[in-house]
Amino acid sequence: MIVILDSSITEQSEEYQRTLDHLSQLPGITARIHKVQGDQQDLTEIYLIGDTKTLSADDIQALPGVERVIRVSEEYRILGRHRDQQRVSGFEYNGVLFSQDTLHVFAGLCAVDTPEHVEIMLKALHERGQVCTRMGAYKPRTNPYSFQGHGKNCLPYVFDLAGKYGIKVIAMEVTHESHVDEIHESLKQAGQPTGVMVQIGTRNTQNFELLKAVGRQQEYPVLFKRGFGITLNESLNAAEYLASEGNSRVVFCLRGVKTNMGDPHRNLVDFSHVPVVKRLTRMPVCVDPSHSVGSRERAPDSIPDLMHATAQGVATGANMVLVDFHPAPAKALVDGPQALLMSELDWFLEDIALARECYEKRLALVERQRSRQKL
Ligand code: PEP
Ligand code: MN
Repeated sequence: MIVILDSSITEQSEEYQRTLDHLSQLPGITARIHKVQGDQQDLTEIYLIGDTKTLSADDIQALPGVERVIRVSEEYRILGRHRDQQRVSGFEYNGVLFSQDTLHVFAGLCAVDTPEHVEIMLKALHERGQVCTRMGAYKPRTNPYSFQGHGKNCLPYVFDLAGKYGIKVIAMEVTHESHVDEIHESLKQAGQPTGVMVQIGTRNTQNFELLKAVGRQQEYPVLFKRGFGITLNESLNAAEYLASEGNSRVVFCLRGVKTNMGDPHRNLVDFSHVPVVKRLTRMPVCVDPSHSVGSRERAPDSIPDLMHATAQGVATGANMVLVDFHPAPAKALVDGPQALLMSELDWFLEDIALARECYEKRLALVERQRSRQKL
């Protein structure tokens, strides 16, 4: 059970103390306080853990300073929405707001190769007012002899260049908890010129020890990719590991699922799950068209499949787009065939803006439908 306090209640107030004292004394129940950072306001939520079935939600609702009481289903306790449409979603990180209402594009290199390519990419983003990017330093590869990423060696120039071009958040995959420490150390050395959203890749979706370690740190938010071969429910439970350890600043990323049924795409595009993840959880939802589609192939209408897939995600309310670009895809060390060209960046951003406009119009339409039904 979750007890949400009125946003005007402070820890010093008498109501807070009285309610907390009451809840702490409930037999067989542990009360755990959670501070929730929302995009509008910060809230205090008290989690009641134990056998809460016998508790009366009405009695608790009547305690001083209580705004609402939510009975949670067992799954994804912290990240779940539990059918409560008003639950706060999202967080702010390094001046950028992430919620189920916002939209950010993270265009960048799948894998960092040279400082020149990083600079071309970041400069282009800066010139287009973008403040987020993706930069892979640690690459999980199918083949042990393939390029594994430059690791910590590339972090100094990646972070310096990000600072130079006003990039605020870099999505960067980690495959081991020590990578978070390396990122932390490198950002400190560089004087904190930018921020990092730590990415958990699809191969590590159920690497529970990695999830626990990344969940224990609360400095960096997490971009969590769904598992390529497990159910959505299993992926959402895995994301909850992060929150259960203390880090609930998590963005959930759809990246397609592995099955031959998706051929000729690299994965079967699963962006129809955007509204599902928003309904089941409070996480902002990202789509990764690059790893879903896996090529620059175009449809007869001349639009790349990858841009069609992106539009499908954005028109249904995606909050983030993670996408591979490369200044010279033929020279890319990882995933060149799916990287969009720098000359396609303006087109891609404009196409996303159109899809977003479509989503906003669809929201206005549902409002009109609601008022029609009320009449
Ligand atoms: C990536 O984003 O670079 C990546 C490896 O993605 P995924 O984990 O979805 O395969
Ligand atoms: Mn890749």
